[in-house]
Amino acid sequence: RFHPTDKNEVLAGRRAHFGGNLSLTYSDPVMPVRGWKHHLFDEWGRPYLDAYNNVPHVGHAHPRIQAVAADQLKRMNSNTRYLHPAQTAFADKVLSKLPGHFEVCFFVNSGTEANELALRLARAHTGATGMVTPDHGYHGNTTGAIAISAYKFNKPGGAGQADWVELVEVADDYRGSFRRDDPDRAQKFADLVDPAIRNLQQRGHGIAGFIAETFPSVGGQIIPPKGYLPAVYEKIRAAGGVCIADEVQTGLGRLGDYYFGFEHQGALPDIVVMGKPIGNGHPLGVLVTTKAIAENFDNGIEFFSTFGGSTLSCRTGKEVLDIVDDEGLQDNARLIGTRLVEGLRGLERKYACVGDVRGMGLFLGLELIAPDGSEATGICSYVKNRMRDQRILIGSEGPKDNILKIRPPLTIDAEDADMIVHILDGILREVEAA
Ligand code: PMP
Repeated sequence: RFHPTDKNEVLAGRRAHFGGNLSLTYSDPVMPVRGWKHHLFDEWGRPYLDAYNNVPHVGHAHPRIQAVAADQLKRMNSNTRYLHPAQTAFADKVLSKLPGHFEVCFFVNSGTEANELALRLARAHTGATGMVTPDHGYHGNTTGAIAISAYKFNKPGGAGQADWVELVEVADDYRGSFRRDDPDRAQKFADLVDPAIRNLQQRGHGIAGFIAETFPSVGGQIIPPKGYLPAVYEKIRAAGGVCIADEVQTGLGRLGDYYFGFEHQGALPDIVVMGKPIGNGHPLGVLVTTKAIAENFDNGIEFFSTFGGSTLSCRTGKEVLDIVDDEGLQDNARLIGTRLVEGLRGLERKYACVGDVRGMGLFLGLELIAPDGSEATGICSYVKNRMRDQRILIGSEGPKDNILKIRPPLTIDAEDADMIVHILDGILREVEAA
């Protein structure tokens, strides 16, 4: 049981016993102790609309997830060295959502691990080491994953760029080098990969592959212009590399119109990485790839993860994907996402500080700008904290942290969407008045 006064003690305990680089959102942190669908309840029982968390994909505390996890824990939980029908059932379910050339699944414990494995697969398949990746990307917290995450290695305390990594400008057609008024922007962004490939070849690394969040999230909720990824993939493949789509944030129906982001691009990756939402809170990462790539990785060294692909993980993951289907959550993401975007576009017309509204389904961003068009980081922080005061949880992203991020569980409904727009309207009015 929690007592409301525990919050300050918890905060003090965190400061005493945890690393200082464990970040807390909001100047007045939230301490949720219960959840239901897209709502969280704090230590006083006060409700918050969760418009930020993508991990509870089918909603917080979903009864079917509770039931399946409890049932499996009552029976047994073990690893992939034993047979269990839940392993193949989960693999079949995952592969049923993907094009036929994906035939092999690897189950791990996080998005980080899946990306780390993707790096190993790409290198085993190609015999090369070089990687091309868009700037400001994020793929995880291990040494290898950080090396392909400019969002981390380029920070003041970061290790800097590894010799085997080449960055390309992120395909941001709102703020980047090629804008929406340029019909050739997708190809122009893709052409930036050419010198990156040449540089890696000249330095002797060759091309192991290209990795990108299909829609860059920490880069600022960016939707690359259609055709960008196919053009990049063509170049990478011509250089012998493998194309990796990090769908940790964009996959599993969140985009409404598409189950995976690469479908929007008309691109076919060689490796797809899933994480966060696929376990609805249970730690789970999945990598899918082709038979040919998996065979080149099967080079005599056993692949084993104690918890990756555990019976519990497989049953939980399959249940999440089944719930998305059974409850029509992809359709809901499309319907509510469209309603939200319409409302947010109304705010864009009304307030000069809203420079851009972008996104798809329930993967949305609102770029806040100063009168000279520069990034309005301070306003973004103000709005995020004021939304929290009114008990709506949203986030912020982008290299200058000026993009409001709305990415709720897929269960969110029309009234919630209208409330977000209404409350945001009032807060933006405060900003204009100040
Ligand atoms: N890739 C992307 C796009 C992510 O957003 C994240 C997590 N924010 C990761 C990988 C890493 O996943 P995890 O934290 O589960 O290791």
